[in-house]
Amino acid sequence: MPPALQGFGSDGFNAAGRDLTVKPGDDFFRYANGTYIKDLIIPPDQTSYGPFSILAERSRDQVRTLLNDVSAHPVADPKTTEQKLGVYYASFLDQARVDQLGAKPLAGDLDAIKGVNDLEAFAKLTGMAASGFQSSPFDIGINPDDHDPTKFSIDVAQSGLGLPDRDYYLKPDFAAKRQAYRDYIVTMLGLIGYADAAKNADAIVALETGIAKVHWALEAERDPVKAYNPMTVAQLAKAAPGFDWQAWLVAAGIPATGLEKRVLIIGQPSAIAGEAKLLAGADPAVLRAWMAFHLADNAAPYLSRAFTDASFAFNGKTLNGQPAQSERWKRGVRVTSSAMGWAIGKSYAARYFPPSSKARITELVGEVKAAFKYRLEHNEWMEPQTRAAAGRKIDNFDIQVGYPKSWRDYSKLTVKQGDVYGNASRSLAFNWNFWLNHLDQKVDREVWFDMMPQTVNAENIPNYVEVVFPAAILQPPFFNPNADPAINYGAIGGVIGHEMTHSFDDQGRQYDEHGRLHDWWTKKDAQKFQALADRFGKQYDAFEIFPGVHVNGKLTMGENIADLGGLTLGLEAYHASLHGKPAPVVDGMTGDQRVFLGWAQVWREKLRDAHARNLIVTDPHSPPRARVNIPSHNIDAWYKAFDVQPGQKLYIAPAQRVKIW
Ligand SMILES: [Zn+2]
Repeated sequence: MPPALQGFGSDGFNAAGRDLTVKPGDDFFRYANGTYIKDLIIPPDQTSYGPFSILAERSRDQVRTLLNDVSAHPVADPKTTEQKLGVYYASFLDQARVDQLGAKPLAGDLDAIKGVNDLEAFAKLTGMAASGFQSSPFDIGINPDDHDPTKFSIDVAQSGLGLPDRDYYLKPDFAAKRQAYRDYIVTMLGLIGYADAAKNADAIVALETGIAKVHWALEAERDPVKAYNPMTVAQLAKAAPGFDWQAWLVAAGIPATGLEKRVLIIGQPSAIAGEAKLLAGADPAVLRAWMAFHLADNAAPYLSRAFTDASFAFNGKTLNGQPAQSERWKRGVRVTSSAMGWAIGKSYAARYFPPSSKARITELVGEVKAAFKYRLEHNEWMEPQTRAAAGRKIDNFDIQVGYPKSWRDYSKLTVKQGDVYGNASRSLAFNWNFWLNHLDQKVDREVWFDMMPQTVNAENIPNYVEVVFPAAILQPPFFNPNADPAINYGAIGGVIGHEMTHSFDDQGRQYDEHGRLHDWWTKKDAQKFQALADRFGKQYDAFEIFPGVHVNGKLTMGENIADLGGLTLGLEAYHASLHGKPAPVVDGMTGDQRVFLGWAQVWREKLRDAHARNLIVTDPHSPPRARVNIPSHNIDAWYKAFDVQPGQKLYIAPAQRVKIW
């Protein structure tokens, strides 16, 4: 058992982790987690630590065992998926070999950049970013279409920044990070022998600052209606002139036949037009330097120690405060997972996910769904018409648990012994091709997207009306088959409720019972929802994590609504499970107390300051303390469970408490 999971009682709760010197009504997070957090040491190769990272470590150890098995005897010419996995991992572990090669593996891609003398060539090479290490000022993706989720759309979005967000370029708080970024560019250009590194670094930062200025803020991108802008390629060329869209799309692998009439979904039209204009006026020499730097930055994990050290010093240490780089085997697990993760996932699920867990989670999801239905029927602010449609949406809810029914076929992927860079770039192309092959096909809902069985996370797919729970999250302390039910209802029950509520948060609510994005709400109900959401958002805006640094209530709106819904539904489902019997008292704690503590325990995360400052700008999730304290103090039962009285710091009057779902 990892040290940080020690001290958990057979009820699944780590009671010793509480800080009983704090009143729950003053700081529930500290009351529930204070001692645990105080004693928790963030390992030097991590930027945060707590149950999520501990489970991720466990999953990684399990994956390492699988990879050690298949890489024990690497073959020169791997044919089977297992052999490919083994060779991919074993080749990556060979530090001496990558050090010996130095920057050599980049030569071909760098030569291609040197040949970029005009905008057409620039568009062609950046279009190849989807299938290799090159970079692009725009992102391209293939996803189920928001208006008709039975087919795929091609989505084009703003991109092109090397720092985490536009704020890093535009706000004075990040001046030191910008300077460090500029120095990092100098280092990287130096490592690839690029001329005039200092001058080029200044020009790259200036170019990206221009891009940052036209980018949409992350919170604005969250509006699915504003981010759904269908345009044919011909229309896009008119709306965002200056960039050779046709050349870019063809290079990305979109069929040239009928291209002008093909419809794309443009995420941020003004940003994309702004970027296109900026690029059209840019000096090709600057564009080449920009591409060369990003190529080296993207490929750094697959290159010699000089590259990985430089990349870590900036991306790990400076941006996130991580003191030490993780060991090579850990990075090996990560890169092998991103290349062939579904092959790993298949073995992972077979070896580590018991069918009994699948059965229990499926049952729990049913209970949370019933709790949601019950609450909706008793909803006080919705008109019958919207409420009936929302009820149908809950009825249609689908779940995926553990692992997908269909697996990715790796027979067309070539993996070569000792060719770390080539293996990685071929896998990028392979994985992009997988999605290209789905274009113009009917959507197969059994194909999973981001969540692999070994991923410690869960997701809601709004246009599938579906939630996905990979095998790896279904472990203690999120889900403990032997734990006290109340703790499980607060922990995994809360997480299930959180994911389901996403279909009814400020974004998800706009998708109907069949997952189609359109306005199915009455105007009055939409206004009422918005008023509740705004009121709730202000509670987060007021939450300070460092002096003068607050949570962004708009950026985190969806996650916050999901947290409030999740905890409410976990509690409701627990109450229903008692069938009218009184809740047992366990270790001196009542049933309701244990549900709230189960939720609080899930978010026992400790963060490094630089990482926390990065997340406050880029992460749609609120910081752990807010995820525990704010939902709790909006729920009446929490006051009763912990005898919270007026005058205590978290106390808010009943009229100020926000109830959405
Ligand atoms: Zn969420």
